[in-house]
Amino acid sequence: MGSEPAFDEAWFASRAQAGIRALKAYDPGHDLVTLRARFRDSRLVELGSNENPYGPSPAAREAMLGELDALHRYPDPRGAGLKHALAARHGVRVEQLLLGNGSHELLMQLAQVFAGPGDDVVYSRYGFAVFALATQAAGARAVVVEPLPRDAAMPLGHDLAAIARAITPATTLVYLANPNNPTGTWFTPAELTAFLAQVPPQVIIVVDEAYAEMADEGTAGSALALLSTHANLVVTRTFSKAYGLAGLRVGYLVAAPGLVAVIERVRESFNVNGPALAACEAAIGDDAHLAWTCARNAASRAALAGALQSRGLMVLPSQTNFVLVEFGAQTARIEAALLERGIVLRPMGGYGLPQWLRITVGTRDENARLLAALDEVLP
Ligand SMILES: *Cc1c(COP(=O)(O)O)cnc(C)c1O
Repeated sequence: MGSEPAFDEAWFASRAQAGIRALKAYDPGHDLVTLRARFRDSRLVELGSNENPYGPSPAAREAMLGELDALHRYPDPRGAGLKHALAARHGVRVEQLLLGNGSHELLMQLAQVFAGPGDDVVYSRYGFAVFALATQAAGARAVVVEPLPRDAAMPLGHDLAAIARAITPATTLVYLANPNNPTGTWFTPAELTAFLAQVPPQVIIVVDEAYAEMADEGTAGSALALLSTHANLVVTRTFSKAYGLAGLRVGYLVAAPGLVAVIERVRESFNVNGPALAACEAAIGDDAHLAWTCARNAASRAALAGALQSRGLMVLPSQTNFVLVEFGAQTARIEAALLERGIVLRPMGGYGLPQWLRITVGTRDENARLLAALDEVLP
């Protein structure tokens, strides 16, 4: 008896497990397919998603094409070729590596495996959006730590001392991003070492290094060097940013072999496809392209940040391929006016930063178009 359920989103959500019930889906920003069609003739300037405007190594394209005769075959479920290349690159063992369909997948799996109802997951406010999603989807409790104040040397960056203090016996997992998205801020290897010394060994510390290749020598460094002394440490990396392969969806994590073996239990058997495996393995072999891309990015980032600052805008320090910029009370109007001119930036309302926009560092031409449009719309 009783009436039929509505079978709408609210009803199905009520049937979902507790963590999913109140979850909001990841917001990818603007509908780029529609925008590209609208700006077909004038070419859209896409600076909203932190993509690499220079594209991947030509060797990656070549390797991928070589795989097209094998599309009827399943890929290597272990991704052995790519893992061997990564192991050699980072000086780690193959058993320390896990491949993901983007590092987003790996960040989700870490919470799925190591956090659940009754557990606390600690991360910074303005940390990467996936940390909150992963925590909630796992049904764990989010402990959100306030960032460094805006007048600090690293404004809105992770406050590692406060994060260490937020760890309790209920904490199973901590997410850090270095450098962080959307702030662009970073912490040094010395700061991370001091932090790790305060963390109980049973707490798993994830350092998301999606932008590590782009950081200047002597700034953010990498947590990879600390893996041999800290078995509770996990480092995630991606081919989406510096390697220019966001469309292929490949990320990886490096951790203790035992940790990798446990996450293997929830990994989909063929989660990374064959063309992507081949392309990433080839990309790892092209250091020259990576260095070229990172040098171009660093130079363009400095020029763009300087140009924005000279217009009186607050630009956070960045070691990534984007800058977070404060536009104040008129942010929404400015963002909309830029979009009308075919310039896509990333609104930050979803991050609780409605007066800021995140701007990907584009090519010199793209940055020039952005600045010209800004000069038309700034008050
Ligand atoms: C872009 C980004 C990722 C990468 O996501 P993929 O799923 O590998 O494309 C991970 N972490 C941060 C902080 C990022 O900005």
